Amino acid sequence: MHPIANHLIQLQELLLIRDEQKVARKGKYLEELDKSIKDMTDKLPDDIRALFGKLHKKDQIVIAPISNGICSVCGMKLPISLVQAVRIGKQIHGCPNCARMLYYPESAARRISKATSRVGPRKIGISRFSSLSLMIPSLESDNADGVIRELAYKMESEGFVDKADNLVEEALRREAIASTAVDHGLAFPHVRGVEGGGLTLALGIHRKGIQFGRADKKVTKIFFFMIIPTAASAFYLKLLAGLAETFMNADSRKAITAEKDPEKLWKALCRVTRTNIK
Ligand SMILES: [Zn+2]
Repeated sequence: MHPIANHLIQLQELLLIRDEQKVARKGKYLEELDKSIKDMTDKLPDDIRALFGKLHKKDQIVIAPISNGICSVCGMKLPISLVQAVRIGKQIHGCPNCARMLYYPESAARRISKATSRVGPRKIGISRFSSLSLMIPSLESDNADGVIRELAYKMESEGFVDKADNLVEEALRREAIASTAVDHGLAFPHVRGVEGGGLTLALGIHRKGIQFGRADKKVTKIFFFMIIPTAASAFYLKLLAGLAETFMNADSRKAITAEKDPEKLWKALCRVTRTNIK
């Protein structure tokens, strides 16, 4: 990959994290992030910085991964010669349709689209992104790595995604930049750039709670683990806001932490998110 592409992906990620932190009401981290964003922006060559700035005014996603030969954000099928040129990485190329800069991910995990039944009611609310099979009412690990591993492997074993190891690594890298743990014992670990399907959410509850990167050492009990296609980044922020809103409420937290079997947990999750997640 072109070294600047790597730099741009990191810069884009920091900008997205800043948006997430605003949504999850974690104001105190914003200053640090702003400084890192400024440092990374300053290091860009003049022409790329100007292009980045111009594209970022239009949309949060400025650099997009190529997935199966298409631009993963606008969906344009790209000429094979362009895919090859991006892959070789001698210079930065843009998508001919949406103008976003392109990169070629080498080993990212992929969402596996499960065959869904054509009959039955249209899915609504949280069931568009999650399912009974992705509920873990009692996480067993007593540390952050282990909890992320349990959630990622659940997604893999239920056939939603491949390369769980890769997901664990990426989610931990994301936590190292800025913890996704927020007040009320909630955390939102996630991996962006998992293409090939929709945003997917697994829920895990830890009975006692574990240390999950909070400076004040308060424990985290409720884990929403999400894999996010690049094009769904803006939608992810909405979902994050809906979940934060729902679980600010102590009754909602009690409703899901009280359940000890997956089916009841799934029903409780659907019930309490009904108002905030359409
Ligand atoms: Zn495009």
